[in-house]
Parts: sequence; structure tokens; C-alpha cells
Amino acid sequence: MEVSPLKKLEQLEFSLDSVTDLSSPSVSSSSPAVATFSSVDGVTELRFLQSDSAHCFTFDLASAQQLFKLGPIQFICVSDSSESSEEKFSKGVNIKFRNEKDSKDFCDSFEEWRKDAVVKGSSLQNGTISSSNKSKFDDKIEASSAKMYFHYYGQLLHQQNMLQDYVRTGTYYAAVMENRSDFVGRVVVDVGAGSGILSMFAAQAGAKHVYAVEASEMAEYARKLIAGNPLFADRITVIKGKVEDIELPEKADVLISEPMGTLLVNERMLESYVIARDRFMSPNGKMFPTVGRIHMAPFSDEFLFIEMANKALFWQQQNYYGVDLTPLYVSAHQGYFSQPVVDAFDPRLLVAPPMCHMIDFTKMKEEDFYEIDIPLKFTASMCTRVHGLACWFDVLFDGSTVQRWLTTAPGAPTTHWYQIRCVLSQPIYVMAGQEITGRLHLIVHSAQSYTIDLTLSAKMWGPGASQGGILQSSTCKFDLKEPYYRMSQPQAYPVAQEPPLPPQEQLSTQDIQTQNDELQDELLQQPPQNTSAQL
Ligand code: SAH
Repeated sequence: MEVSPLKKLEQLEFSLDSVTDLSSPSVSSSSPAVATFSSVDGVTELRFLQSDSAHCFTFDLASAQQLFKLGPIQFICVSDSSESSEEKFSKGVNIKFRNEKDSKDFCDSFEEWRKDAVVKGSSLQNGTISSSNKSKFDDKIEASSAKMYFHYYGQLLHQQNMLQDYVRTGTYYAAVMENRSDFVGRVVVDVGAGSGILSMFAAQAGAKHVYAVEASEMAEYARKLIAGNPLFADRITVIKGKVEDIELPEKADVLISEPMGTLLVNERMLESYVIARDRFMSPNGKMFPTVGRIHMAPFSDEFLFIEMANKALFWQQQNYYGVDLTPLYVSAHQGYFSQPVVDAFDPRLLVAPPMCHMIDFTKMKEEDFYEIDIPLKFTASMCTRVHGLACWFDVLFDGSTVQRWLTTAPGAPTTHWYQIRCVLSQPIYVMAGQEITGRLHLIVHSAQSYTIDLTLSAKMWGPGASQGGILQSSTCKFDLKEPYYRMSQPQAYPVAQEPPLPPQEQLSTQDIQTQNDELQDELLQQPPQNTSAQL
């Protein structure tokens, strides 16, 4: 018989570099320890046993116990439980692991333990609190971020901005109406309904009933708008709340949503989409959209690079009203180069055929979005300076009748997502035919976005190259939450006599290296860049 997952966990020991009692840090020395999970008479416990003093700290996992992640290898474990009869005191220890692997193993086990042994839980992110008495959304998202986010979406002007993106809204309309058979007589959940537009598309396509779930104040406007459309008003129920928290009276056959942010994953709403899938969708249900792909290619853009470097030059002034600004120059320069640039660029700026990373919304687990690690490999099409990585995304509506793509690719009709470029403060030089390697590493943060680490490398050409070459490598960190919107800038790109690569060739599907094999065949049947809404 197989050992149960909990029993397996009970057999594990996690070595700690140190455990310090927070109630008397000066008295108790911090010393190496071992952490174990155990279940005694139905009470689940986490124990830290100090190896030198044999002192043991015990935490009841089912009580209001919290784990704060302070850094990659350091946590604070706090319990509300009090042994004093008069006053209530918290009990806490500061724990430190030897390395990130031990820390991650412990975190994974802690999560598994909580999922099985405690009622609710979520993986722990830097600076967030995990406790069993908060909702899944509140658990991982900072309250201030959520407040601003839902305030933004509660305003009609921002909903209008999305509705007026005709590529976006038109493609959704086409994807629904061309796949009527997926909607007729079906129960649909609209995840993050906003104005209720997608709910009304689903109802027009013949849905039996649509639950329009919206967390912001927009839910009230959606009710009003739907009530003013009597043709389908009686088939749509607006539910104000987060998909993580609300309950529905029945399972859904179809989920429809527009959860995409810049670089596909910004705003972390895809996590809510897959949570809604697990909570509300019946096993063979359909998801609109079904999969998403992040496309990436190195680019060369001297104008942009100089523009960004110039911004920081302000801090090079040594006599600004008698003040020397130069002490802040390096920080300002770093600040500008940590902002991903959002604008629509000419696809001729790409210096290699793009590659892509696929995300299957029907299979992806919520936790899979916490860290997205993409190895990069390109072949340069020209001899140039590479200034960074350009990214865009597309999503597929895998309908039973028609497969339709919504693309945000450069060269395709522009959407309100535009494209995004991560500019390296140190460009790299490449020759035609040369390999460019690297890594795009995305890690979630609790302000509903991601920290991006980008590395691009290429072997230096010239005399050294014949002996294996010298590796040039450039790395930058970006905060996806703080983009530089560059739309007002002139887009003057001189038309070369002979463009190094015509856009069609650059973006041809033959060049796209899909990393995820699943669905690849179907996905490649339709070239994404030509399939935006044709209404
Ligand atoms: N479906 C609309 C709005 C898309 S914008 C349209 O296509 O035009 C995304 C919407 O999802 C916003 O209105 C936002 O408030 C809502 N939202 C985001 N996360 C949510 C969550 N966890 N639960 C419910 N609504 C959410």
C-alpha cells in the first residue's frame, strides 16, 4: 500500500542553520535545529528541535499560526496561541535555513501539509503572510495593492478603455459567436466580468445562464447595463465578490474571462482564472481563452537606449541651484533601466526569430504562476547591438467550431497591451548567425505583479572567438508593476533599403519554437499574427 502524503511528510526532517526564540532572543542562543511535522491525536504540529540544547519549539498548525517569509532562506513562525491565562502573548521563532534548496523544500512541505491537514492555505511569497483565517486572495496580495486595483477597475473610464480596444473586444465577440455550440444551453461563469460585456456575449450566443463575477464596484454598473438589455437580462446573474471567495449554486460548462495583463501575467489575474476553474468548472468544461503564449525576441533600438540613458543624465549636474546631483546618478540610471518599456514597436527591430513559452490555462496550477523560468536561445539574423528582450503574448480560444487567436504581436493591429521591452543597461554585440542565450525569470510579488530577471549572453566575436570565444553577458532586474509607457514618443524608424528581415518572416510560425509540446500541433495550424478579429 502506498504511504499517504502526510505520512511521507512526517518522515522528513529539515535541517536549519539556526532557530532563535523571539520572545527572549538575548537569552536563548540561536543554534542549529531540525524541523519536523507530526500529527498526534488529530492535532497537527510543526516542531523545531535545537540540536545543542535539545530545546523544542512546538506550533499547532491548525490554530491561527503564521509563517512570514523574510528572505530566500529566512522566516518568522508565529502562533497566536497563548499559555498565559490572564493576558494573550504570541509565540514566535526566527528560523534560518542553510541554503535556498532546504528553504524551498521546507516551504513546499509546509504548503502540502497545510493543504491536507489544515483547511486553507497558499504558497508563501517574500513579505506575505500565510494564515488560515484569510481568503486565498487576501493571503497573497497586499491590501493596499488590491484596494488600488479594484478602485481602478471600478471606474467606467477604464472599462471603456478596454471596450474600445476593438481588436480585443472584437476577437472575444468573434470567438464566442463562431463557437455558439459551446454556449447554447450551457452554464457560463464570467471571471472578472467588469462591465459584463463577455457575459452578454455568452448570453447572445445562447447560454442557459451566466454568472458574472466581479469584485470591484463595477459590479453595480454591470447590473444596470445588463438590466437595460432585456433580451438576455434574465439569463445573467451578477455576483459581487472575488472568485476566490464567492459560492455558486451550480457547476459551469464554460469559463470566459479576460485575465491578461502586460506580458500576459501582469496583475496576477490568471491565478484567479485557474482558481475559478478548480472551484466552478465541471470536469470537461471549456475555457475561453484556453492557452496563452509569451513570445520573446532580442531587439536592437539605439533610439530607445539613448533616450533612457539620457533621462538619467539630469542627475549628472554638479550645480543644480548650487546642489551637486551626481551622488544619485547611479541610482537614477538603475531606476530607469528597471522599468519595462511599454509601446508599439516596429517588428524590424527584432534581431532574431522569436521563441515562445506556452501556458495552458486548463492545466496550469495556481502555484505554477508564482515562478516562471524561461531559458532563452536565439540565432541572430544580423550583425548589431542587442539592447534587450522584446516580449508580447497571444491567447487561443480553442472553440469546438473555430480556433481563434487574439494576438498582441508587433506589426499586428495594436491593442491596449501594446508590447513590452526589457532594456539592458549594457547592450551586447552579435554577429549574424551567432547564438544568443539567456534566461527570463519571473517571480511574483504581493503587489499583483512580477520581478523580472533577464540575462542575455553571446560569445564575443573577434580573435578570441576561434578559441571558444569570450562570453559577454548582460543582466538586469525589472519590476513589471512599474512600466515606462512610451506611447507619446514619436515612432520614427527609418525604412531601410533592404529590411534585414521582413516582418512576415520574422514572425512566421515556422520560426516559433514552442517549448511546451502539448497542443503544439493544433496551435500551429493557425498563424497567430493574422487572426485578430475580422469583423
Ligand atoms: N471582462 C471584462 C473586464 C476585464 S478586466 C471585459 O472583458 O471587458 C478584469 C476584471 O476582473 C476587472 O473588472 C477586475 O475588477 C476583475 N477582477 C480581477 N480579479 C478578480 C477576482 N479575483 N475576482 C473577481 N473579479 C476580479
